[in-house]
Amino acid sequence: MSKKPCSASFGGSLTALQLIELDACSQCRECLKVCPVQEVTGNPAVSPPEKIRMFRKFLKATNGLKARLFKKGDIDKKLLEEFTRAVFECTTCGACGQHCTVGLFTQRLWPYLRKEMIERGLVDYEILTKMPEAIQKTGNPYNFPTADRYRPWFPESVKVSKRADLAYYAGCSGAYGAQPMVRGDALVLGVIGDPFTMLPEEEEVCCGFPLFVSGQHDLMEELTRKLVEAYKALGVKTLLCSCPCCVNVMTRDWPLFYGKELPFRVLHITQFVVDALRKRKIRVKKELHERLIYHDPCYLSRGVGITEEPRQVLRSIPGVELLEFERHGLNSRCCGAGGAVRKVFHDNAVAIGRLAIDEAVRKKADRLVLSCPACYGKVNEAMQDHDKKITIVDIMELFAEYIEREEQ
Ligand code: SF4
Ligand code: SF4
Repeated sequence: MSKKPCSASFGGSLTALQLIELDACSQCRECLKVCPVQEVTGNPAVSPPEKIRMFRKFLKATNGLKARLFKKGDIDKKLLEEFTRAVFECTTCGACGQHCTVGLFTQRLWPYLRKEMIERGLVDYEILTKMPEAIQKTGNPYNFPTADRYRPWFPESVKVSKRADLAYYAGCSGAYGAQPMVRGDALVLGVIGDPFTMLPEEEEVCCGFPLFVSGQHDLMEELTRKLVEAYKALGVKTLLCSCPCCVNVMTRDWPLFYGKELPFRVLHITQFVVDALRKRKIRVKKELHERLIYHDPCYLSRGVGITEEPRQVLRSIPGVELLEFERHGLNSRCCGAGGAVRKVFHDNAVAIGRLAIDEAVRKKADRLVLSCPACYGKVNEAMQDHDKKITIVDIMELFAEYIEREEQ
């Protein structure tokens, strides 16, 4: 991608609504109360009003009346660097938007502000900039071998059909980084028993989320088209996945990059499981006398509004006592892993993850239930060298142990 000069007009990536949103921020600072990065760093530069204030300066310098009539003003390089760091240090959790007094949709706004910085070559986090090449080479942003995508976690006992109405997409983070989670998904699908298909390893490429959220949108259309056409060719009517980021990008962004409505619906695995319970395809075979606390992933709760189904799944197990974090559902606190830069801002991510661990321990939960591969990896990491410990389990990893097929 050829880079724009820093002085090029800002705002070109934003929709008219997003430009209005930037203007609408009243700088009331209400959102600071819920920002997890503020909570652990106290750095005002990362706060939403400060990022917005800085971006407004860039807009004014390159697009304001003075810039149009006379000449574009210079933008202080230090300010650009400070802004770039701030917009990437944000986990894009969207809590600020949930609490915004004027209703800004920040979870969507930050990736586009990041895009403006990417386009100017101001981002040098290798973990991000090497992603497009890794995806083109291996199909995943981590550069792991394509042939290992479904190994060793996919259970031999579960049958995958060549073609089916239903398809399961494992996703890169689950397949390579949170294997108990995707194994749990496959086991649960096996018990439900509806025939389902999967793409071959080399065709199940990245959904595009890490590229989208980091503002690197060049490959989005190609990836979306490749995946949508591949599922369409298999006759898929329902696409299932468990990673909140995949569900988010598939439902919100794929139609935009595909240029029209998708030829199938996308469901989160908990939605499919709740339906299977309701239709009595499966039943819970044993009790679990534990206090479980469920953490809502930002891109599942605030991203696509799925908060009730995971709780219904957990409550379906007799004996479970379901606890809640003080901030839960649409108001949940990020686990620290969001935004695709958790490795760059590792200390922040660990400190935020520990807030969840500490609260779960304080509430005397027996296990902390997660439903996101990024949370799974980061909260486990946050526990290392921490004085508080709790057992972590993925929702489907847990549920798979408690169900059997209902004889029809
Ligand atoms: S998206 Fe989350 S981390 Fe980023 S500014 Fe908003 S509350 Fe803070
Ligand atoms: S709550 Fe909304 S309007 Fe107030 S400072 Fe935050 S982003 Fe701006």
